Amino acid sequence: MPGEFKNQEQPEETPKQTEPILETQELETQENKEEIYDTETLFDFLSQRYEVPNYDATKKQLLEYGMESKDIDAVLELMTCIIGIDANVENLKGIRLEFNAAKNTKLLAGYSPASENKEEKYVVYVDGSADEVIRRCGDGALTKQEVFLKTAVHEIRHRIQYTAGFKMFTDENVLGGDEELKKYADYVKTLQDKKIKFYKEKGETDKFIGDRINKFEFDSELIENFAIEQIRMGITLDDLIKLITLQPK
Ligand SMILES: [Zn+2]
Repeated sequence: MPGEFKNQEQPEETPKQTEPILETQELETQENKEEIYDTETLFDFLSQRYEVPNYDATKKQLLEYGMESKDIDAVLELMTCIIGIDANVENLKGIRLEFNAAKNTKLLAGYSPASENKEEKYVVYVDGSADEVIRRCGDGALTKQEVFLKTAVHEIRHRIQYTAGFKMFTDENVLGGDEELKKYADYVKTLQDKKIKFYKEKGETDKFIGDRINKFEFDSELIENFAIEQIRMGITLDDLIKLITLQPK
């Protein structure tokens, strides 16, 4: 149930000090359309089938940056989920992958769209990631694998949002549609309201709040929560991709 997802704060502002490790990678897609995956089997499938490019070199470089082994392992698993699911979405090209070594960001992952002088990229934040994953598990509401898959879906959805002509879900347009989805919309709306209150009490600026609570985040959070429930019940990769690319009618 949506109510189980607590402690899901996902501030996504890009920290200033970065020592990124970047790779661009084009991956093959998976062909088996019939197989039904649940959390564990999907996670295993992705780990066996996809590997972060220059895995060993990336690991070595992150250790040299002073990152901890457990954090490196966590973001490598997360990035594997991101690239593995992303590779199965049609019409997406290779993308830069950034392993960000900034300290103490309290972030797990992000997506940056292409701009004038920057390529689009997925970012994972290494420092403290192992503990952040545990924090996001809440009181056992989510397993670590669910946190990885959910975060991956969230970031891939952000990438899809930048497809030309793409229509996002809002708390208004979701109402006329699917009953299931509506349930999650209510949940995400409540969560966003809580976050706004929390940030205001902390004295955060409107910009800070706007960076975290906005239509892009509403749409991504809606899809990630819906997706993780469907994954738990069992879903084909094909249906998962349909869900990640779903648009309001
Ligand atoms: Zn987001």
